[in-house]
Amino acid sequence: MNLKFCGAARQVTGSMYLLEVDDYRILIDCGLNYEPGFQRELNARFPFEPSEIDVVILTHAHLDHSGNIPTLYKKGFKGSVLCTEPTLALCEILLTDSATIEGARVQSGHKSKKKISGLHRLYGHGDVRDALNQFVTLPFHQPFELNSAIKLEFIPAGHILGAASVQLDIREKGKTKRLLFTGDLGNRESVITVDPEAPQNVDFLVMEGTYGSRFHQDTSEGEEVLRKYVEQVCQKQRGRLIIPAFSVGRTQSILYSLNKLFKSGKLEKVMVFADSPMGITSSEIHTRYQSYLNQGTSEFLNEYHDLFRFKELYLIEDSDDVAFMEHYREPYIIVSSAGMLEGGRIQRHIKFNIVNPATTILMAGFCTPGTLGDKLLSGARQVIIKGKDYPVYATIARTDAFSAHPDQNGLKSYYEEVCSTGKPKSVFLSHGDPESLEKLKEVLCSAVLTEINIPEPLDEFQL
Ligand SMILES: [Zn+2]
Repeated sequence: MNLKFCGAARQVTGSMYLLEVDDYRILIDCGLNYEPGFQRELNARFPFEPSEIDVVILTHAHLDHSGNIPTLYKKGFKGSVLCTEPTLALCEILLTDSATIEGARVQSGHKSKKKISGLHRLYGHGDVRDALNQFVTLPFHQPFELNSAIKLEFIPAGHILGAASVQLDIREKGKTKRLLFTGDLGNRESVITVDPEAPQNVDFLVMEGTYGSRFHQDTSEGEEVLRKYVEQVCQKQRGRLIIPAFSVGRTQSILYSLNKLFKSGKLEKVMVFADSPMGITSSEIHTRYQSYLNQGTSEFLNEYHDLFRFKELYLIEDSDDVAFMEHYREPYIIVSSAGMLEGGRIQRHIKFNIVNPATTILMAGFCTPGTLGDKLLSGARQVIIKGKDYPVYATIARTDAFSAHPDQNGLKSYYEEVCSTGKPKSVFLSHGDPESLEKLKEVLCSAVLTEINIPEPLDEFQL
């Protein structure tokens, strides 16, 4: 069999791996490439013939793993996309939003005075609907025969609701080889998701290394971190706490943690504004798929019948709500997307509050270099938002307590668990920048020595 690294090779985005077993072609993930400087149109150029792919196996809903699936169908793919049920539900909102963003991007490109050659949308809403009709769902731990020689099993990966690692048992010449694609992994004891599971007897391991060179500074529980910030900012300083959060995953972790704090009486009443329409829809999906939640969250749901509704929560729906919020004189918390502060509704809250010394902006996730979030975290005293200069008087803070990826220690212990009953013949590190992957390789080699590769884009390996 042959494995080709079509995306996320020495970079974080654009996950896509092509596995050919005789004449059967499996694509694991089909994500959008979001790397800075990468021309978005180039996502439509696949390094293989889309009509020749037999099946797509999707690890989870994030667009850097799923966002190019509608393009694949447009280019001739006719097979199914296999994923878990929550992944399909989350893809419905994320891919629909991606089509809307595509439309807006092309429209503004055509309006701009600069001539942009070859500007076209990757796909529209109709393409997304056509693609979603071809999704087929499978639960965790239910073996599924792709053909007489290839068996697939989804393994819980943590990370976000429904995220799976892909285990393939492939029979060739009377021998079975096990391949594991980790997809994005989560942390143990996460707020909402189940723990990642590390399968064993793996022959070939393709592992993510997003935080291969990083260590989470803040390993205390998310709930405790939030309680301290709310007490400090809202109760002692009588100020505003702004928490930028991705719509899927982080928004739910934060709202659920606040809910638990209020219900347990650990926090005094303070208003919480949630300004993230996709975050609200994906919250409903989290409540719908109870069997994909960790045990504590599932028990909470049994007791209260909802994870994210509490009387202190106010959902922002229209501009009247925004005006109400901006004139609200008491301390408050805002949870809004996008996490890196690039676009999304969060920007208006940042503009309004960044000049207020009583505001704290709590960054709870990774920010790509060059984004507004990254500039604030790097200590910028002046930032430009939508062409206007703003001095930064607000306090900028960060926490890793809600991180959706393991750090170097977490990746190492996952790898050691995979290796506990025998080391893989080969390991491939992807989904990380070169520095993170090199550092991770060094650490993994010192833990369990085996052949560890860091593939270049389009590298191929005979397994
Ligand atoms: Zn992800």
